[in-house]
Amino acid sequence: MSNLEERIVYGLRIVIDRDQCVGFADCAKEAPEGFKLDDDSVAAFASPEAVERERLLRACDACPVDAIAVYDEEGRQIVPS
Ligand code: SF4
Repeated sequence: MSNLEERIVYGLRIVIDRDQCVGFADCAKEAPEGFKLDDDSVAAFASPEAVERERLLRACDACPVDAIAVYDEEGRQIVPS
């Protein structure tokens, strides 16, 4: 069973694969408004729309295990790059 969380922000589709997440929190360090760790130390969305687009993309790309994917308006994957 997949454990995906998804948000649309700036027209980008951001998907956290919570089964892949190992809880190092690089995403939350880069964008603490956007991502948080839940009680199980797994990444979840906070308020990603509060983060500027470029930093949001950097935060998604910071994941060492590629647990966060981003798709642009045309559905092309832009993160991991
Ligand atoms: S950077 Fe990746 S592994 Fe680390 S908490 Fe975020 S989603 Fe999980």
